[in-house]
Amino acid sequence: MTGAEKKPRRPRCPICGRAPAPEQRPFCSDRCRQVDLGRWLTEAYAIPAQEPETEEE
Ligand SMILES: [Zn+2]
Repeated sequence: MTGAEKKPRRPRCPICGRAPAPEQRPFCSDRCRQVDLGRWLTEAYAIPAQEPETEEE
């Protein structure tokens, strides 16, 4: 095994993992594109002010 973080030969839709459509790259469809966009926005809003990672019981 070589190359841990190299570009995959075949890009896949980051949402569903299917082959991306040329006109929707890197997504397979407009739907997945929207999903990703929504995810992005959601995460942007959801990012807390550096939540401390404490594992206390
Ligand atoms: Zn997809």
